[in-house]
Amino acid sequence: MIDYSLFHSKKAAYYTLGCKLNFAETSTFAEMLTELGVTTVSGDEKADICLINTCSVTDVADHKCRQQINKMVRNHPDAFVVVTGCYAQLSAERIASLKGVDLVLGANEKANLIQFLSDAWSGADTEKIHRVKTKEIRSFSPSCSKGNRTRFFLKVQDGCDYFCTYCTIPYARGNSRNADIASLVKQAEEVAQKGGKEIVITGVNIGDFGKTTGEQFLDLLRALDQVEGIERYRISSIEPNLLTDEIIDFCASSKAFMPHFHIPLQSGSNEVLKLMHRRYDKELFKHKVEYIREKMPRAFIGVDVMVGCRGETDECFEECYNFLKGIDVQQLHVFPYSERPGTAALKIPYIVAEKTKKERSQRLLELSDEKLHAFYEKHIGKEAVVLVEKASKGLAYHGFTENYIRVEFPKALSNVCFDNSLVSVHLGEFNSKHDALKVETVKQ
Ligand code: SF4
Repeated sequence: MIDYSLFHSKKAAYYTLGCKLNFAETSTFAEMLTELGVTTVSGDEKADICLINTCSVTDVADHKCRQQINKMVRNHPDAFVVVTGCYAQLSAERIASLKGVDLVLGANEKANLIQFLSDAWSGADTEKIHRVKTKEIRSFSPSCSKGNRTRFFLKVQDGCDYFCTYCTIPYARGNSRNADIASLVKQAEEVAQKGGKEIVITGVNIGDFGKTTGEQFLDLLRALDQVEGIERYRISSIEPNLLTDEIIDFCASSKAFMPHFHIPLQSGSNEVLKLMHRRYDKELFKHKVEYIREKMPRAFIGVDVMVGCRGETDECFEECYNFLKGIDVQQLHVFPYSERPGTAALKIPYIVAEKTKKERSQRLLELSDEKLHAFYEKHIGKEAVVLVEKASKGLAYHGFTENYIRVEFPKALSNVCFDNSLVSVHLGEFNSKHDALKVETVKQ
């Protein structure tokens, strides 16, 4: 039994590390607590509950999580401290041993946060660690939240069955599972009722959607496309082997699905892709990029690349670099490989020195800048429709075009209420930081 009265007038502080999915889930926790009368601390206020949603994608991420937990314990000495997320699932004992941590919730148990808090506050004798084994992670916690941006993040899928050799996510989040299409459409309709115009479809391996319900990802897209009021959808990262030509055809013909793709390549060397146990080769990836370009010539394509993984010789890296240089993608998200305990990659003998990893990252980041700059440049003087994002105090409005170009509005327009509006604009030159195009004129 949950004692809801225990939640009234309590104050909470939240901290999220890691991916968009984690941010969306933290927002959902915050919404659940807000509905029960819990407010979020501001300024120097002290919290009664601290919730830290962790990531474990690299050893640096683990370190940051521990730092953040210690900081929140120091800043909120009387708070009840809950830690959840990937690091909590993978290293529950280590987190529980940190001073001030009261509760560690694994991937399954976080769905019952409210029950755990009620038990703890009513003085029940509770364990500190709640976590089931990876194979038993079955629960799917729905999440659709706005965070502090204009767009909403709709979680459609969780977990992964792929077990790439460098990755701990399947151990942290469990097997692939999903919500059903009907419930997801309902959540999108609720977003539209709240005035939301853009939804980003998120998950861990979203193209694998349907494992639990026997449905197809493409059918989900078709159903969401029918929701009145949602003018824009973006598909977050989707595995290249699961991004079918039919999905690309559908996005090209849909009004609401934006010409924007995020595809993890990880390496442009087939030898390395094999060592990683990825389920495609570079030829398939190239086909996907070319097919998108043929159907949507102005599409934005972002690509994840991992550098310095075990087995990536100088020749493999050069092959990867040249492959990326030769394909028409717009941005590279570069991640240096990090050794993760328990992963199969640790059995690969060839280790890349840290210095080499840094040099390779740097080269790819420079290539990414060149590609992004060239793409933006092609759009100077063109028309576009921008969804305007909330302007921070004293700052000009900004937003993104259909094909994910960041634009900035003139400061003179700061007083006009553009927030969450779709506005037709004429794109001007780069801004002073060179990370956005300036809006030259707004079309009425
Ligand atoms: S597809 Fe591979 S890299 Fe992505 S979450 Fe699954 S195991 Fe990890």
